[in-house]
Amino acid sequence: MRKRIKRMALLFGVLILILGSLPMMINAVASPIVDYQTHIQNVGWEADTDVGWRSNGEESGTSGRGLRLEGIKIALNEASGYNLGITYQTHIQNIGWEGSTDRGWKNDGEMSGTSGLSYRLEAIQIELTGEDASNFDVYYQVHAENFGWLGWAKNGESAGTAGYGYRLEAIRIQIVPRGSGAPSVVSALPFYDKNAPPPAIGKLKVHFIDVGQADSILIQQGTHAMLIDAGNNEDSELVANYLSNQGVAQLDCVIGTHPHEDHIGGLDYVINRFEIEEIYLPEVYGTTKSFEDVMTAIQDNNLTISAPVIGEQFDLGSAECTILGPVAWDSSELNTYSIVIRVDFGENSFLFTGDAEAINESAMIAKGMNLEADVLKVGHHGSYTSTSQAFLDTVNPKTAVIPVGIDNDYGYPHNVVLNRLNKKGVNIFRTDLDGTIIATSDGATINFKVNQ
Ligand SMILES: [Zn+2]
Repeated sequence: MRKRIKRMALLFGVLILILGSLPMMINAVASPIVDYQTHIQNVGWEADTDVGWRSNGEESGTSGRGLRLEGIKIALNEASGYNLGITYQTHIQNIGWEGSTDRGWKNDGEMSGTSGLSYRLEAIQIELTGEDASNFDVYYQVHAENFGWLGWAKNGESAGTAGYGYRLEAIRIQIVPRGSGAPSVVSALPFYDKNAPPPAIGKLKVHFIDVGQADSILIQQGTHAMLIDAGNNEDSELVANYLSNQGVAQLDCVIGTHPHEDHIGGLDYVINRFEIEEIYLPEVYGTTKSFEDVMTAIQDNNLTISAPVIGEQFDLGSAECTILGPVAWDSSELNTYSIVIRVDFGENSFLFTGDAEAINESAMIAKGMNLEADVLKVGHHGSYTSTSQAFLDTVNPKTAVIPVGIDNDYGYPHNVVLNRLNKKGVNIFRTDLDGTIIATSDGATINFKVNQ
């Protein structure tokens, strides 16, 4: 408390200094003062350190050191002369919103959060109470792991993330006269709730690389990258150069959808040249030299193969990937082992099906999986053995991309599939006609560029 009294004296001096000269600043100083402190991992309560209580927009916590906040205390300065109180709650790891539990909201300097359990705080809500509450807005913002400073929230709105488990690393709080606006705009990023669509930060870029009669798809989100298939053996350098030209040095995830050469042919070359965090292959063996080369490259680089687990989710930056296949494979057809993956970015979604066939499609529908997607990577190069009417109706894509070679031996894409797509009014892109196709999503809309 000694520190707070000292600061009041200082503020008084400042008030006298600026009286009559800067009317806007008088307003700011005349607002009630909010004092707050956080309990920081490895540090403890700030008031027990040299830092002391913070007030009026100062940062409490550590925005640069990445230490989690475990508790907060907020108090109004009693000398401010207003009939005001302050109430607040935190969203705590393993507990959720305190107000939804026996803990309830906290008031006027009480501890919210956990200072002993070491659970991270993930979000906060703050409201003013009392007769004068309607004259003021309380603004607050948080520094959240992976996001940085989020935008200002006010008067009971949520700030932070709920359900994502990102720790709070710092907070700022300020009270201003009602309607005078946020103290300053730092970031427009809002509160994120896991029940809402995943947050889209930056752009998601999906490159359908023109590798002729084969598949290779690069997906980039921020500094993160994933490769689905790597074309034929003869595409090895093309794919590797394409990745390098996009600034990719490291791949968070590589997926070899199934052991056919037109999908894993260039994979050994990629594995030997890029740092790879995780590699997924279906649980089936190929008998070809191409497949053996991939196995050798995996061994040489000390990688461990991850088997696809249906329903498994992982993040690619702020995009969310979900493994949907293979289900209902047929041991006489390698295509039916194709790994199927869905990528959600904000409100946009992409479905990548490898060479999955109609039996896989109907099994996924039967399982009630969420297959709806804005963009469908058409299965098996547009073969009639994939893209059944029921599947197309369920996915209901706006755009279809067909990786397919000019004058290929198989007559892909088959007319029956093209007709199905056209009848539904789906936009079609084909690598044989459009070259490399790049889809860019900002989380709300998707733009396509061809011949890239
Ligand atoms: Zn294929």
